[in-house]
Amino acid sequence: MAEFTLELNDDQKQVRDWLNGFAKDVIRPAAAEWDEREETPWPVIQEAAKVGIYSLDFYAQQFFDPTGLGIPMALEELFWGDAGIALSIVGTGLAAVGVLANGTEEQIGTWIPQMYGDVDDVKVAAFCSSEPDAGSDVGAMRTRAVYDEAKDEWVLNGTKTWATNGGIAGVHVVVAVVDPELGSKGHASFIVPPQTPGLSQGQKFKKHGIRASHTAEVVLEDARVPGHCLLGGKEKLDERLARAHERAKAGGERVKNAAMATFEASRPAVGAMAVGTARAAYEVALDYATTRSQFGRPIIDNQGIAFQLADMRTQIDAARLLVWRASWMAATGKPFTSAEGSMSKLYASETAKKVTAQAIQILGGNGFTREYPVERMHRDAAIYTIFEGTSEIQRLVIARTLSGMPIR
Ligand SMILES: Cc1cc2nc3c(=O)[nH]c(=O)nc-3n(C[C@H](O)[C@H](O)[C@H](O)COP(=O)(O)OP(=O)(O)OC[C@H]3O[C@@H](n4cnc5c(N)ncnc54)[C@H](O)[C@@H]3O)c2cc1C
Repeated sequence: MAEFTLELNDDQKQVRDWLNGFAKDVIRPAAAEWDEREETPWPVIQEAAKVGIYSLDFYAQQFFDPTGLGIPMALEELFWGDAGIALSIVGTGLAAVGVLANGTEEQIGTWIPQMYGDVDDVKVAAFCSSEPDAGSDVGAMRTRAVYDEAKDEWVLNGTKTWATNGGIAGVHVVVAVVDPELGSKGHASFIVPPQTPGLSQGQKFKKHGIRASHTAEVVLEDARVPGHCLLGGKEKLDERLARAHERAKAGGERVKNAAMATFEASRPAVGAMAVGTARAAYEVALDYATTRSQFGRPIIDNQGIAFQLADMRTQIDAARLLVWRASWMAATGKPFTSAEGSMSKLYASETAKKVTAQAIQILGGNGFTREYPVERMHRDAAIYTIFEGTSEIQRLVIARTLSGMPIR
């Protein structure tokens, strides 16, 4: 089992520097343009595929890094480049994690490579859990999957919303209700293969930030998928549902459902994205504060500015430490007895919002314009306290874990 260390090994350092180079040379120069266009930056994804950053191999290598630091380190660098473009590059990973968390080996081997496509024909994938009436309240999900035994097919009906890459994805991973009596324990995840009739894109959202990442509704109207598209398989699902019914009869011990397992694994990752954005804004602010002069001296000569920068950097480092701790715990199988994954996401996302706002303040009028990137970074940072569970939900998870009480 890997010991916890803050010292990246040589391989990790090499990967970090390589990603930082890509973020600096390819992502950053494209950031303002794709933010304005509010479109998926396919040429940048293709470039990432060419050099091996947008590939199953690369993510698998980072995902299975025994120290757990591969993914947070990679995400921090890419999101340091630009959050919208980086989400377009890594959004497929959320769907891939959905398959990794719940799929059989065969499903993992079949579907995850298809999610990425290949260098000459790059694809993206989408993970669709949220619905118009089921955001934080996953148990209110209505999208229904019904088994047609005669054809060995599942029939999906419902509307998903806020899906990153929804509708433009090849493979969609859709969470649906298979047993309405069980609430969130009656959910299962399905692969909806490319070009499945009955799946279509609803409205595409015009957003406040991460505008280079496509977010849309996904509508399922009698979308039929083969039986083998049920992640984990029918036998495992039937066993799980039977156990859940027994527990419900016996008074209801809490069990994890399919979507929650995915969120659990991905929360420190969102924390790492937030650290990347926060660090980028801090660096711009530090540089500006040392070069901008007022009253005949650099503005950093004033404690009012210098102390802000001291706080910003301290909070960014603290956020990274929480993210790395949670990622190491996940990789080494340590139980999250104090909801450390949620803690890392909560703290890092709130830090990114705060730090990017402070960066605007430090740049004064320039910070408020699109001539400088901190305005975009601040808009982008707002997403981190919302997706993968809002800050309020993270606090609920942490408080419930610590107290054992059903806090509402
Ligand atoms: C850009 C973007 C990309 C996304 N990508 C995906 C994706 O790829 N796949 C996917 O499935 N989803 C995705 N989401 C959805 C995201 O996870 C949800 O938006 C999020 O879970 C919140 O749900 P909601 O928007 O319905 O807010 P609501 O649940 O309606 O919450 C509204 C407010 O009420 C608060 N609140 C709710 N319940 C409680 C409570 N019990 N106690 C205290 N406060 C509470 C919330 O914290 C929030 O402040 C994305 C969202 C966005 C904006």
